Amino acid sequence: MTLRPCPFCGGEPHIERRGNARFSTIISCLDCGATHECGDTGDDVGNGWNSRASDPVAAALQAICDTWGQPANEPGPSLTSLIEAGRAALSTAK
Ligand SMILES: [Zn+2]
Repeated sequence: MTLRPCPFCGGEPHIERRGNARFSTIISCLDCGATHECGDTGDDVGNGWNSRASDPVAAALQAICDTWGQPANEPGPSLTSLIEAGRAALSTAK
């Protein structure tokens, strides 16, 4: 299974521990240190991380962070529109 990029920084994920009947799976981001612990085992290792990576709320937050981090002379979408998209994602996730 291919791990999707980190939902927070887009960094490279790394499997710290593969889960089994006794231990949980731990996946962490090599760039920002975000960790995800879940009960995935065997071929399912990575499912939890990947579903988190595709979380619409995380994606909206990522868009805000990306835009906020851009140089001022390269305007992206307005922060207002990104926040509105984030609110929409949050209300859908509830
Ligand atoms: Zn990260």
